[in-house]
Amino acid sequence: MSTANPTLHEKLWSLARNFWWCWQPEVVEIFRDLDPVRWEQLDHNPVLLLDEFAPEELEQRARLELLHSRVNYAYRRWQEYMESRETWADEEAGVFGNYPAAYFSAEFGVHESLPNYSGGLGVLAGDHLKSASDLGLPLVAVGLFYHEGYFSQLIDETGWQQEVYSHVRNEQLPIRIARLANGEVAVVRVDTRHGPIYAQAWQVDVGRVKLFLLDVNIEQNSPEDRKLTARLYGGDQRTRIRQEIVLGIGGAKLLTALGYRPAVVHMNEGHSAFAPLEFIRLRMEEEGLTFNDALREVSATCCFTTHTPVPAGHDRFDYGLFEEHLGPIADQLGIGPVGLVGMGRIDPQNAHEPFCMTVLAFKCSRRANGVSNLHGVVSRRMWASLWPWCSEEKVPIGHITNGVHLPSWLAPQMRQLYSRVLPANWVKHSGEQKTWANFDSLSDGEFWETHGLLKIRLIAFVRDRMLRRAKRLDLGESEIAAINQCLDPNALTIGFARRFAPYKRADLILRDIERFAEMVHDAKRPVQILFAGKSHPADQNGKSILQRIYKLTEEPGFRGRVVLVEDYDINLARALVQGVDVWLNNPRRPLEASGTSGQKVVLNGGLNCSILDGWWAEAYDGLNGFAIGTNRVHANQEIQDDRDAKAVMEALRDEVIPLYFERDQDGLPTAWISRMKRSVRTMAWKFNSDRMVMDYATKSYLTCAGGTYAEMDRFA
Ligand SMILES: *Cc1c(COP(=O)(O)O)cnc(C)c1O
Repeated sequence: MSTANPTLHEKLWSLARNFWWCWQPEVVEIFRDLDPVRWEQLDHNPVLLLDEFAPEELEQRARLELLHSRVNYAYRRWQEYMESRETWADEEAGVFGNYPAAYFSAEFGVHESLPNYSGGLGVLAGDHLKSASDLGLPLVAVGLFYHEGYFSQLIDETGWQQEVYSHVRNEQLPIRIARLANGEVAVVRVDTRHGPIYAQAWQVDVGRVKLFLLDVNIEQNSPEDRKLTARLYGGDQRTRIRQEIVLGIGGAKLLTALGYRPAVVHMNEGHSAFAPLEFIRLRMEEEGLTFNDALREVSATCCFTTHTPVPAGHDRFDYGLFEEHLGPIADQLGIGPVGLVGMGRIDPQNAHEPFCMTVLAFKCSRRANGVSNLHGVVSRRMWASLWPWCSEEKVPIGHITNGVHLPSWLAPQMRQLYSRVLPANWVKHSGEQKTWANFDSLSDGEFWETHGLLKIRLIAFVRDRMLRRAKRLDLGESEIAAINQCLDPNALTIGFARRFAPYKRADLILRDIERFAEMVHDAKRPVQILFAGKSHPADQNGKSILQRIYKLTEEPGFRGRVVLVEDYDINLARALVQGVDVWLNNPRRPLEASGTSGQKVVLNGGLNCSILDGWWAEAYDGLNGFAIGTNRVHANQEIQDDRDAKAVMEALRDEVIPLYFERDQDGLPTAWISRMKRSVRTMAWKFNSDRMVMDYATKSYLTCAGGTYAEMDRFA
């Protein structure tokens, strides 16, 4: 980190090489002020930005923009952060000592400049790392490096989604090759029946946390295998199982090679369920244990988070694929593939049952959890057959509700405003309820004004993205003029953005198009709605929904009031959650395990209007947002969809719109603002990834690491 007296140029580069910068508003502003236009064009990538300046040019820019003291201050703060021993974990989780928790995930959404995520699961993993870093929790993370990332979404003239894959080059990113203590590049080998796959790894620094991304695009591999980790969720079942042995087995080997002896192994979703197998093999080799003893010891250190409330959503492999890829390790474990395959089956002897990653993860874990209270209930029901001797409530799957990383998602303007009424150092304690006790003393007028400012920024951001598309498609002047006029800062602005998975029902609100039109066309109480989201490349249904919405945005009556923004990513998500009045969420209950985007909206004073599913089922208290419908679920999906479509319209027409447009003599919607405040006060601490990581540490990690907390039942 430090030469004795680094130059300004060196300090800027040091800051750019650790993603810590991305959740420090004042460091973001330093990079932006160097060249605001390029900063936007380069997708907020400081490595690319700094690369455009020669050292003396940088010095000159810094002098011109009076950046010196800001850079010095930021650099000093970063060093203090990296070295601090006064963290939550130093006080509460000392039992770890030098043995970190190892966090495995197939995707990580740390920042828009690192396209290693497709949606909520990845962003959650990114937020987990950032909070672990802020809390001082010793944690090391493992994932895969997708050199083509997840795709960028372009929407063509007909409204059909086109996918564009870019080639992510390591020299454009703040990553470096992982090396052994002796300086050699760390390379791991994973065996299959048809020969080995080799992987090296990229190290990404996320504050204090190191993230290692395995990459098989190296010359030791066949041309075909080199493409194995090219794309996130690309390819067939064979690609999938090969990715998963690299992630799990390769990841565990990598940690061992780098000298890590994790106290806890945390599998974020079933993709990494092979990891325990390699740790078992290692214990057998190093300590001469039998398979059963090593299994008992290793699974006592593992915890598993399941994310998928539908049976079909879990990775399953037939015996042929399983044998080809797990045969070698099964032999090393001394149980052979026929013995090992049973660990991925509910009924080990049932030769017709495919091998399931989730089942393996459960069988290798001491702690398991869903990601919201309701999802815990659903998961216990779904997996009850794994514990036939338990009643459903006793099934040892608990829940830890997801949360979001406040410094990453809260607008800097709001952060400044909140600082006036919250205790000193409040950001560091934002995951604690008492931090927010005084929030209601915030000035109504200032809260509303700041929110209005962020809404205007959102509108500018959206117009900018639309103009980019217009240029690409070579649209005419009248279209460009229309874009420059679209969206009204005084209209009630509803946001709907998420992956276009069918269960999320992006088109639910369009089911009764006449009533929807009435709402949008009301001149006295104008309403507008922003859509964004990617459909999985293979999901034709999702793409059709997207196209329907696009077609609507082109109709004269809806133009400029219903808007579809292409290429939903962390950057667009940030603008949306900070600028909307209302966040609409209408999944088919209970398929949204948690959902997190609405939690980002909470931080910024937007209100949720949501089906009582996922996190919202436990968050909604009657006055901190709006509920759509009730808890009732109809077995017939069509009936349920109709019922929910009606309920959305009712919630908007009868509650949301009237409250929003009810103004006092100063033009302030005081009842609305009081709901905004209540939303922040009751939820910002709770649906916060600091609280989430503290829960993981105290409810799962400490038990797995042999600590003293034991709240959930242990299971065999
Ligand atoms: C937060 C986030 C998500 C998750 O949204 P859900 O509410 O879980 O659907 C997906 N994509 C991006 C880019 C996000 O920032």
